[in-house]
Amino acid sequence: MRPSKLTYYADFVVYPVVIVGLAACGVTRAPWADRSEWLGAAALGFVIWTLLEYILHRSVLHRKTYFAPMHAEHHAAPLAYIGTPPWVSVSVLTGIFLLPVWLWVGFEVANGLTVGVMTGYWWYGVVHHIVHHHTSTPSPTYFNRLRAWHMRHHYSPKGGNFGVTTSLWDHVFGTAISVRDKAAASS
Ligand SMILES: [Zn+2]
Ligand SMILES: [Zn+2]
Repeated sequence: MRPSKLTYYADFVVYPVVIVGLAACGVTRAPWADRSEWLGAAALGFVIWTLLEYILHRSVLHRKTYFAPMHAEHHAAPLAYIGTPPWVSVSVLTGIFLLPVWLWVGFEVANGLTVGVMTGYWWYGVVHHIVHHHTSTPSPTYFNRLRAWHMRHHYSPKGGNFGVTTSLWDHVFGTAISVRDKAAASS
């Protein structure tokens, strides 16, 4: 999917609105005693997103799948405005997380989980945009570290560094490209 610049940037506006709306709905409906459950579900959702981000990038976008050509376009032109329109991703995440968990466990947990997953997805978009598009402006160390990490994914001959917002899962699954690997490959 190659959206216009407008749909690319819409992600950054639509998600905060959806997340705040959903969170307000979940928190006001949950009795006080259940709010820690809601928070726990949201934290779990965020962690689930980081794992999903890793799995999708490694096993869908870098394999011979329907979505791989779109990702190959990003690798060929990292500054092009390539992504999934927010109405598609919001519908998919709602269909996968909110509705089934609502039916299975209940609204508060489903709501918290979905808020966590969507926050993770939005944060992934923000981080990925900043590491590619704000290379000349001084960024906090956090983004500089993730930029160097993600550039090794783009430019190292060794496949790896599939996580964008965190290196955790690459370390867990043995796909981290160390600075030494990159230096050895380019010498
Ligand atoms: Zn990639
Ligand atoms: Zn990238």
